[in-house]
Amino acid sequence: MHLLNQEMNNGLKEQTHHVADIKMFPTFVRSLPDGSENGDFLALDLGGTNFRVLLVKLNKGDVDIQSKTYLIPQRIMLGTGQQLFDHIADCIGKFVRDHDLVGQRLPLGFTFSFPCRQEGLAKARLSKWTKGFRCEGVVGENICHLLHEALLRRTNCDVEIVAIVNDAVGTLMSAAHTDRQCEIGLILGTGCNACYMEKLDNVGLWDGDYDHPEQVIINTEWGAFGDNGCLDFLRTEYDRELDTFSINPGKQVLEKMISGMYMGEIVRLVLERLAMEGLIFRGADRDCYLFERGKFYTKYVSEIESDHDEFFRNTKQVLDEIGVENYTTEDCKIVKYVCTLISARAAFLSAAGLSTLINKKNKSDMTIAVDGSLYRFHPRFHNLMSLKMQELVKPGLKFRLQLSHDGSGKGAALVAAVAMR
Ligand code: ADP
Ligand code: MG
Repeated sequence: MHLLNQEMNNGLKEQTHHVADIKMFPTFVRSLPDGSENGDFLALDLGGTNFRVLLVKLNKGDVDIQSKTYLIPQRIMLGTGQQLFDHIADCIGKFVRDHDLVGQRLPLGFTFSFPCRQEGLAKARLSKWTKGFRCEGVVGENICHLLHEALLRRTNCDVEIVAIVNDAVGTLMSAAHTDRQCEIGLILGTGCNACYMEKLDNVGLWDGDYDHPEQVIINTEWGAFGDNGCLDFLRTEYDRELDTFSINPGKQVLEKMISGMYMGEIVRLVLERLAMEGLIFRGADRDCYLFERGKFYTKYVSEIESDHDEFFRNTKQVLDEIGVENYTTEDCKIVKYVCTLISARAAFLSAAGLSTLINKKNKSDMTIAVDGSLYRFHPRFHNLMSLKMQELVKPGLKFRLQLSHDGSGKGAALVAAVAMR
C-alpha cells in the first residue's frame, strides 16, 4: 500500500509523470451526475472481452437500455487499427438500422477501456494496448478521430462523439447517478483498473481550468503497478511464466496477478506443475487441456469454488471438460484449494489498492462502485475484499463495495449527458 501510494503520487506529479508506471490520467470528467440528465444516447463498450452497442434513454433518474453484443474476432484484435474501427463502425451501422434510428442525430459516449491520455472529454490518445489487443497504428492516435473517420467511411450514421471514457470511470458515473457517496470506481473483468475523484490541487499534471468544481476523475491505470520491478518481491514463478508467454511481457504486472484474463491461467500453471511432479492426477493424459496455455478459464475458478461439499460436482465437471481422466477426490480437494489461494491473493491485492485510495481520500463515508465479471460471478470475491479492507482502511472511515449495473454502457451515456447538461 505504501509503494502503491508512492507510485500513484509519482503519476500525479508533473516532474515524475513521464517515468511513472501508474499514469494517473486526468479524465476531464469533473462533475458527477445529479439525476437531472435527460435524452437518448448511443453508447459503445469496448472492454477487452465484449463489444457492445447500446441505446440509453435517460429520463429524470430512470434509465432504459437496449443493447447488443458483437463479437470482435481475434484476427481483428491483432490486426490493423483501420480494420478494428471499420468493424466497430459496421456494428454501429447495423445497430442503428435494427433499432430504427436511421436519420436521428444521436450523441455518443464511448467506453474505451484501454490506457489513454485525455486531451479533452472527446479527445483521447491511446498510450498502449493491454489485455488481448494489439492493433497496429493506434498507439498515440486520437481514438475519437479514428472512430469518426470509420463512421464516415462505413455508415451514413449521424452520430456526434461527445465523450470517451474508461470503463472504471463509466462504472463510477453509473453508480454516482443514484448514490452521492460514490467517488471510487473499480473494474475486475478482463483487466483490473480503478479511478477516483481527486481535488485539482493534488493533480500536478492538470493544465485545464480551475472552475468550480475543483476536482477531476483520475483514471489510475494501476494495472501497470510493478512494471518497474517494485513488486518482484511478491511475484511467484507462475506469475513470471504467465508474463513470459503473454502478448505484452513485462507490462501490466498487477493486472496479471488479479484479473479475469489471467487468473485461470495462473491456476493452470500451478496444477500443471503439481501434475508434473506426480502430486496430483497420476495417470492424466499429457494431451489434455491442463497442459495447454489459456485453456483453463477464470470462470472455472468461480465454478470450482462454488462446490461446498465432498461431492465436488462442479470441480468434476470442469476436470471432465478439460479432459483430465481418473482423478480422485483428493485431487478435487487440491484443485479447489489452489483456486482459493489464487483468488484470495487477487482479492487481497484489489483490497489493498482500494484501501490505499480510501485512506488517501480520507473521507468519512464512501461507496466504491465495482463492475466486471470476475467480481460479479466469483462466489467469494466480494466478501474476501470487504474483510481484508476492514483490516487495511484507517479506523473510522466507512466504506461499502457496490456492484454497478451496466457501468460501462450507462456510464458512457451519463458522461455524455452531464457534458451536455
Ligand atoms: P470486459 O472486461 O470486456 O468488460 P467482463 O467484465 O465480462 O468483460 O470480464 C471478462 C472476464 O471475466 C474474462 O477474462 C473472463 O475470464 C472473466 N469471467 C467470465 N465469467 C467469469 C466467472 N463466472 N467467474 C470469474 N471470471 C469470469
Ligand atoms: Mg466491461
